Amino acid sequence: MKKSLLQSVYDPEEFRSKGHELIDLLADHLGNTTQEKSEKVLHWNLPEKELKFWQEFLVNGDEANFFQNILAHTTHIHHPRYIGHQASPTAPVTVLTNLISGLLNNGMAVYEMGMAPNAIERIITDLLCKRMGYTQNANGFLTSGGTLGNLTALLAARRAVASEDIWKNGSTKPLGIMVSDQAHYCVDRAAKIMGLGEKGVIKIPVNEDYTMNTALLETYYEDAQEAGIEIFAIVGSAPCTATGMHDNLEEIAHFAKQKKIWFHADAAHGGAAIFSNKYKHLLKGIQYADSIVLDGHKMLMMPMITTALLFKNGQQSYETFMLHADYLLSASKEQEWYNSGRRTFECTKYMMCLHWYVLLKNYGEEVFETSIDTLYDITQDFNAILTADTDFEVAVVPESNIVCFRYIDIALDTTATNQLNTQIRQQILEEGTFYIVQTTLGDKYYLRTTIMNPFTTLTHLKILLKNVKQKAKVLSL
Ligand SMILES: *Cc1c(COP(=O)(O)O)cnc(C)c1O
Repeated sequence: MKKSLLQSVYDPEEFRSKGHELIDLLADHLGNTTQEKSEKVLHWNLPEKELKFWQEFLVNGDEANFFQNILAHTTHIHHPRYIGHQASPTAPVTVLTNLISGLLNNGMAVYEMGMAPNAIERIITDLLCKRMGYTQNANGFLTSGGTLGNLTALLAARRAVASEDIWKNGSTKPLGIMVSDQAHYCVDRAAKIMGLGEKGVIKIPVNEDYTMNTALLETYYEDAQEAGIEIFAIVGSAPCTATGMHDNLEEIAHFAKQKKIWFHADAAHGGAAIFSNKYKHLLKGIQYADSIVLDGHKMLMMPMITTALLFKNGQQSYETFMLHADYLLSASKEQEWYNSGRRTFECTKYMMCLHWYVLLKNYGEEVFETSIDTLYDITQDFNAILTADTDFEVAVVPESNIVCFRYIDIALDTTATNQLNTQIRQQILEEGTFYIVQTTLGDKYYLRTTIMNPFTTLTHLKILLKNVKQKAKVLSL
């Protein structure tokens, strides 16, 4: 008898055989990329051509080649010459936890829809709080990304600090936050979503090393007050995204305490260094933050997207939303840590805690320390090579695993140098044998690398520089 469509969709044997095939394909891919059996990190394609390909595939493509084609049309994070954006080369075991979450599909908002993951999430966030140097009063939860984490933290801050009950009544007075002008754009976006407007985002200029100039805080604060803006929070970046440089969290904490405002640490990228004895000094003062954001999918080898949001005073994490969804959550004053949706922006979320737990269970905290040390160490070596070479200039001596550098030729002015480096980066992208990105700092365009991958060696980085020089020579002719 022919299976019905839905029988076929849910057929366990089909799942088994396709699943095994896929795991084989992915394991081969992992081996091929990490061992550089394929030269390319990506096969660049113009957006319009890419669109055509997938339109055509939907109609005429062979279903059996679908996964293979996805691999061929994406950027290969595990490739040693992937040194672009801050995406984790996922630890394969977390790919398996992704799979479990996908099949079980427990939404976690209420305890019954995720008993194990709600308990596991508590264990993970308690551990993170402890490592950050928080006391017993602290707790937190996992959420979908640093962007959402930062927004949620600022909502909690407004709830805790602002003089009005804005959640209930809406806001009548202008409110503001303070943040370095090098902070991730999502902080600005969060503030705009909260209705603070342009004038409510007090951007503090940076020092020469791109960290917040904390000497200016008092003046900027007073100016805002004079303009009738009530400041309720200050955000420190650890580190900021473009350059990987850490704001002085101790000084920000001191200022926040003095003004009785909320201190939020955006440690989406670098919070992971708390696991490293060698590098945790970069986060000095983070224990004073009222809230901390830390991404698992950046430096902790996990799939996108999983973020810890931690609160120094855990009670405040329960007060952010204060809503009554009676069919889901009964009104309660108790800290119902086991009903995830009480505190998260999301209602449904996937079982992201499994990635954190399986890594800790299988490899221990040491895996995070080893990874951070490996990546931050090699970045120092890369910086040494760049600094010793007169053809290159770094924007700043790196603190983490992000390096901004550019090719320089004394015969060229800033505009021409920018143009040259822009062309170099475009050629590298189209060639596909390396993946690097770019950033603009002040009026200067930089090539930007983030060393995310333990397979990247100094040899790779030297080849990249040679490659950049060759391109510069040809382009300058
Ligand atoms: C990446 C990053 C973010 C955004 O996090 P997502 O997880 O991509 O939403 C925010 N802040 C900093 C400092 C970051 O590096």
